[in-house]
Amino acid sequence: KKEESELVMREMLSNITHDLKTPLTAIRGYAQGILDGVAATPDRMNKYISTIRNKADDMANLVNELSLFAQIYNKEIEYKKGGVEIDEYISRCMSNLSLDLETRKIDFLYRNDVEKGTCLYIDEEKIKRVFYNVIGNAYKYIDKDLGMIFLHIEDAGKMVWVRITDNGSGIEKDELPLIFERFYRTDSSRNSKTGGTGLGLAIAKKIIEDHGGQIYAESEKGKGTKISFSLPKKVDEKKKI
Ligand code: ATP
Ligand code: MG
Repeated sequence: KKEESELVMREMLSNITHDLKTPLTAIRGYAQGILDGVAATPDRMNKYISTIRNKADDMANLVNELSLFAQIYNKEIEYKKGGVEIDEYISRCMSNLSLDLETRKIDFLYRNDVEKGTCLYIDEEKIKRVFYNVIGNAYKYIDKDLGMIFLHIEDAGKMVWVRITDNGSGIEKDELPLIFERFYRTDSSRNSKTGGTGLGLAIAKKIIEDHGGQIYAESEKGKGTKISFSLPKKVDEKKKI
């Protein structure tokens, strides 16, 4: 057991090092380019600066993920739960993601089958993390020319189901139960150029379970993946009488 966790730790350190080094190298390279006067036209300058900005964002995301993971690991995580209307909340979560989807020719479909005005009872920031991690994966592991991500909200009484389907690479059957484990990355994603620590879904699972929900995956290799998670509704005081 101890050896196993040491192996995991070592692998994690090398992943993190790699994931921080890649954008850092790019930032240094582009900044040096600007200093050397390589970015001669305003267009080029713009491109250099946007790239630096994007790489810094990548690093910030990784650091956020690590810090959240450290909190979760130390059981320090604190939730600030409150009521929020579903449609409004989803559009807020999606507003930061939609630009990414457009630039990569990914069709995004949204359907909400829950009665209008229904509220969730959640920690908005933490659940936003879950959306980011799951949709981020859908985005990252799409290998088709025309990508598709479908976000479907279904009613289930006291809970709602959020289902996120993509037409990406899919996951082998025997690997499916492992993807929610910390640091687990499938063989194909470890061998590909997509970076990652394998924490995204472990964090998502912890946050969902701390909200009294469940999370699971269905997938077909080569065709795509569907991740489903449930979230609690806010209890309507008026309807209780
Ligand atoms: P991180 O999210 O920490 O940057 P990651 O994406 O590798 O890294 P997870 O989000 O936890 O880690 O996912 C675990 C693994 O499950 C991924 O490495 C990938 O192999 C597989 N996986 C997850 N979502 C999908 C998906 N939508 N399509 C194909 N494979 C997926
Ligand atoms: Mg991920």
